[in-house]
Amino acid sequence: MLEIRPNCEHCNKNLPYNSEEAMICSFECTYCKECALELFENVCPSCSGNFNQRPIRPSYQLKKHPASTIRIFIPKNYNFTKHNTKIYKNIPAIKR
Ligand SMILES: [Zn+2]
Ligand SMILES: [Zn+2]
Repeated sequence: MLEIRPNCEHCNKNLPYNSEEAMICSFECTYCKECALELFENVCPSCSGNFNQRPIRPSYQLKKHPASTIRIFIPKNYNFTKHNTKIYKNIPAIKR
């Protein structure tokens, strides 16, 4: 089951279960759209994979399958991130 993390790992913005701004990589690293697409240019700073929009969890499911309440807030190093993005951003995601 997909872990619905409550915030952007880089800027700490709230990303509730029904946010349309939450982006995830295949490891469920979770960022807001601005960080994922503008800052990281669709290169995950942790795994170098791409991002997709996280689907919302329907609210009636929350009682049985609650969203995570554990906030992961680990701002990424600017220079490392820029370097990593530069290496991967022009490689199509399916070839990374
Ligand atoms: Zn963010
Ligand atoms: Zn990742």
